Amino acid sequence: MSPLAPVLDGWIVPLREAAWPFLPEGRVGELRRLETALSEALDTAGQGSVSERLLAVRRVMAPLAPSQDGEPGTVAAVGALAGFVCGWYDLDLRDTVGPGHGRMILRHATPSLRETWTRRLDAGDLVGIAATERHGGSRLTEITARLARDVDGWRLWGEKCWVSRLTEAHAFVVFAKDPADRIQAVVVPADAPGVARYPETPSGLAGWGWGTLQLHDVRLSGEAMLTTPGGDGERIFREHFAAFRPQVAAIALGTAAGVHSRVLSTLQARTSTGLLPRVRDTALVTLGRTQADIHTALLGAVTAARLTAQGSRQADVWARATKAHGVETAHRAVQELAPLVGASGFRADSPIGKARADLGGLLYADGIHDALLRSVGRTLISTR
Ligand SMILES: Cc1cc2nc3c(=O)[nH]c(=O)nc-3n(C[C@H](O)[C@H](O)[C@H](O)COP(=O)(O)OP(=O)(O)OC[C@H]3O[C@@H](n4cnc5c(N)ncnc54)[C@H](O)[C@@H]3O)c2cc1C
Repeated sequence: MSPLAPVLDGWIVPLREAAWPFLPEGRVGELRRLETALSEALDTAGQGSVSERLLAVRRVMAPLAPSQDGEPGTVAAVGALAGFVCGWYDLDLRDTVGPGHGRMILRHATPSLRETWTRRLDAGDLVGIAATERHGGSRLTEITARLARDVDGWRLWGEKCWVSRLTEAHAFVVFAKDPADRIQAVVVPADAPGVARYPETPSGLAGWGWGTLQLHDVRLSGEAMLTTPGGDGERIFREHFAAFRPQVAAIALGTAAGVHSRVLSTLQARTSTGLLPRVRDTALVTLGRTQADIHTALLGAVTAARLTAQGSRQADVWARATKAHGVETAHRAVQELAPLVGASGFRADSPIGKARADLGGLLYADGIHDALLRSVGRTLISTR
């Protein structure tokens, strides 16, 4: 077993043969190289602020992202597993590989804007999403940000809150209403005149900046507006999150797996050095239960990612349910595992304490769970 790939060898390889026959050996090799490169990049990321280091890691890792060629379901599964690998090391590494919210630009922009952003994302540039407003992020249809026609483009006004990647993103996909009251998605360069950013201090997920994005008479070119056949910004939002939410679940589960691995090795070290005479049965039960919880939820997240990539009618429902289930499973597992190492896990510099706080943020970000599950229930009741 390679000591440089604890996630691959401890968590992914054991599932592959039984559950993922579609994942060829070559893809596993890609994930192994990604993990090795990531652990090296983390060692050499420099001395800057946390977000400078995260951006530096993203820039190093961007060219090593898993290939987008191949059967879409397999590509999506590998993307989710790459997220799981990054999450194992640190939930703040959730933007290490892949286009993230930039995926909306790659799928819905004009060919020239898409070409520009393919290049920029491949070089490690970052795109944020700005949808939430003060009335509540769970009610997208009530947004008040406004677009007005300009001579050859658009003008944008509004205020978005709780925006992640606030200070690091090079552009935001902003959701606003057009003069016909339809929700649209527009690409707003972070340095455009009229864009102002006001960071807040989060209690977790503090790697990227987070806070308020003010948009005052921002001038945008005509090609800033994203389009999708037969739809508008609401459809772009839904399609994007059908792919993004399984990814979030996989990353969160990776973080819980990281805590599991650290707790396990701490207990092993304590028994082998005689600090603990033996591991108590209740601790063994917690290790067993959380391992099963994380693995089964990961199976669900990978399945949801594949359903979206394959255009399944079930994709939207699976993505919403999976985000809630995966993040809650990860959060609960960490709550149960953390006490097994005692107060040392409560230190500010403990990765276990950090994982606990970070996973708390994901209970809200990318869809608050009661709203997601309520909408799943509504879909089920109206279609069966
Ligand atoms: C760490 C973090 C990162 C984030 N990153 C981003 C980002 O990058 N971009 C972005 O746009 N947003 C971001 N958000 C915001 C996130 O998407 C929202 O927090 C989420 O959508 C919920 O919105 P809200 O917090 O405004 O809560 P609300 O929508 O106000 O919901 C709060 C509660 O009220 C409930 N509720 C809603 N309507 C009713 C009703 N009629 N009656 C009773 N209860 C109701 C909801 O179901 C929920 O339980 C982030 C948040 C966090 C914490």
